[in-house]
Parts: sequence; structure tokens; C-alpha cells
Amino acid sequence: MNHSTDTPRDLRSLNAEEAEDLLSGWGHKPYRAKQLLGWLYKRSAASIDAMSDLPQELREQLAAVFSLRPLELAREQCSLDGTVKFLWRLVDGELVESVLIPASIGRDGSQSDRRTLCVSSQVGCAYGCTFCASGLMGYKRNLDASEIVDQVLAVERWRLAKGVELPRREPLVNNIVMMGMGEPLANYDNLIRALEIFNSPWGLNIGARKITVSTSGLAPQIRRLAETPQQYHLAISLHGATDAVRRKIMPINRKYPLEELISACEAYQQAKGRMIWVEYILIDGVNTGSEQVEALSRLAKRLQCKVNLIPYNPVDGIELNRPSDGMVGRFRDALHHDGVRVTVRIEKGTDIDAACGQLRLKSEKIFTSAEALGQAG
Ligand code: SAH
Ligand code: SF4
Repeated sequence: MNHSTDTPRDLRSLNAEEAEDLLSGWGHKPYRAKQLLGWLYKRSAASIDAMSDLPQELREQLAAVFSLRPLELAREQCSLDGTVKFLWRLVDGELVESVLIPASIGRDGSQSDRRTLCVSSQVGCAYGCTFCASGLMGYKRNLDASEIVDQVLAVERWRLAKGVELPRREPLVNNIVMMGMGEPLANYDNLIRALEIFNSPWGLNIGARKITVSTSGLAPQIRRLAETPQQYHLAISLHGATDAVRRKIMPINRKYPLEELISACEAYQQAKGRMIWVEYILIDGVNTGSEQVEALSRLAKRLQCKVNLIPYNPVDGIELNRPSDGMVGRFRDALHHDGVRVTVRIEKGTDIDAACGQLRLKSEKIFTSAEALGQAG
């Protein structure tokens, strides 16, 4: 049973080993497991019945034990810059979102064919950061691994429904960031299974280096993730460079203060031999003082990490303010002057909450640019 919804387990949480064991246990030939995985993760089948080259008997056996219930698209909003926000309805009626960000220009200014999906891991969030809409909502439930995986598959079905072909028959999403609703490391087992499916050759075959897990700082789970063999990329939502400031805006800091968090980050870097990112939202009058610049600079040097500054994005019902562009620039320059590698996040989809009357036109824009880039490459 699926713990979160009391419905049978969804097939899109099976890994290769389970599929092989299951089908061989039913007396099917080994290649059938490969076929099944192909339908699930390569062809994004929306039902068991659609798996037309599986024997009827096998389809019936599967249907007796598993479900396959695709996410339902509740709403789609397109931004003029090509960003698309999807609101998905889950089996129990809860809603989560994913955001598709097609980057035609990379961070360093080069052309990029990276097409990122920002994926949710929970309905709501228990951690109550004062600046965050998910925190404001509170925690409802964990997403099952299949509900995490299906966000990517559903975007693929959305592309196919629009009849859009990408060059070299690539899937639309080739980069994943676990930066949607929820705290991924608080839903550890489902997260790990979903990442395995994203990353495996029998799954979505997306390189581990193209998969980012963002966390508000669950130190023990960071150490656990460090022990996995895959080179997943880690981003830390820091947002305060001293305990006094961070504690005020991120309650998690009381449980895992900065020293504990930073040493878990060092363990992660050591285990993986790769750099982490630090995300730092700039909130006017809260975490923009010169003592934060100094502490952040020390911390970034210790971790040898990149810092990504994000001007606070106003949320209805939260009384915090975005700093002026001048202040953002000064904060960035001060870090840069100290020798820290720092970027300011280029905002995407800022118009997305406005009425969107030209959905079709705007979503076509993504594919036109993706196609043009594919041909260029
Ligand atoms: N819980 C994880 C994953 C969610 S990621 C985490 O906190 O890292 C969501 C990202 O958006 C985090 O970096 C979060 O700090 C940031 N965020 C939340 N509210 C925001 C806001 N109002 N403006 C800008 N960034 C925000
Ligand atoms: Fe939002 Fe992440 Fe904080 Fe949860 S942990 S409230 S998702 S910023």
C-alpha cells in the first residue's frame, strides 16, 4: 500500500531489481522487466493497458497489485520568458507544483540546452521558514516516490500531447532541481528512490551531476546522502550567516545550528569531491547587514563554495521586503571583493502570477528556442 494515500502502490516507484524479481516470480521471461521499465520511464505510459506489447496476463497481474495513476494537470501558467508553472492534482486531491525553466543562456553567458524542472517533494512543509509560502501552508504529507517521479514524466506527456518533437528525440527535462514545495531530506526514502529512477539508465537516465537536492539544513540527512555513491549536487538554503540571524528566519537552525550544518557540508564535499552551492535570500533589513557579509564570506571560504544570492520574492501574507537593486549589488560586490564566487539569481517567471491570456503562444516559445538550440548543437 502507498502509505500516504491508502491506494495500491503506484508502479512508477519500482526499480529494476524489484521489477525483475516480481516478473520472474510470476514466471515471465527476463526481458519483460525491461519492457515494463521502458513503458514506465522511457515512454511515460499513462495506464497499464497502454503497455500494448506486454502479454494480457501480465497486465492483469500488474493491475491486481499496483496502480498507475498519473498526476492530473490542474493548472498551467506560462511566463513570457518561457518558464512554465504546473499545478498537479494528486490522487487525494492535494495540489503540488513543478516549474519548467528552459535556459537558453547558461550562468557563464554561454548557450545552454539545459531544461530544468523544479520538483516538489512534499505537500506543504513542516519547517516554517518565515519567508516561504510552503512554510506558511504547514506540512500536509510526504510525496510518494511515484509522485515525485511523475512530475517529470507528466511534463513529458504534456510535451507529447502538444505534438512537439525535440531534436535527437530527447526528453524535455534534462536537469532536475529538488527546489519545489517541501523539504526533500525530510522525505528521505522516497527522495532516494525517486533520484535512483531519475538517474538510472533503465529510468530517466539523467546524470547525477544534473540532479540537485536543495535543503534547509537537515545535518544528519546530509551526512546520509554523502554516503550514497551517486554524485548528486547539493544546495544549502542558508539565508543567514550567523546563528542569531538564521535562527530568526529558519527555525531548523535551532535544531541544527550553523557549526553542525557546515561540518555536515564539509563531510558531503569530502565524500563526493565536489562543490556545493549556498543559496542566500536577501531580505531587506533582516540579513543584509555588513556583519552578515563578513560571516558569509568566512563561511564560503571555509567551504570553498559558490554563493547564489536571491532577492526575496514577495509572498502574499508575509510581511517582509525585497531589498533595492542597489543593495543587492552592494552585497554582491562586498562578497566578490572578499574573493567569494558569487552570482545573483536571474529571476524567471516573475510575471507568472499575473493573468496569462496567451498560454499557447508562450509555451510554443519554449519549444521554438529548444529546437533552435538543438539544431545549433
Ligand atoms: N526545503 C528546501 C527545498 C525547497 S527549495 C530548501 O529550503 O532548500 C525552495 C527554495 O526557494 C529555497 O532556497 C528557499 O529558501 C527559496 N525560497 C523560499 N521562499 C522564497 C521567497 N519568498 N523568495 C525567494 N526564495 C524563496
Ligand atoms: Fe520553505 Fe524550504 Fe523552509 Fe520548507 S524548508 S519552509 S520549503 S524554505
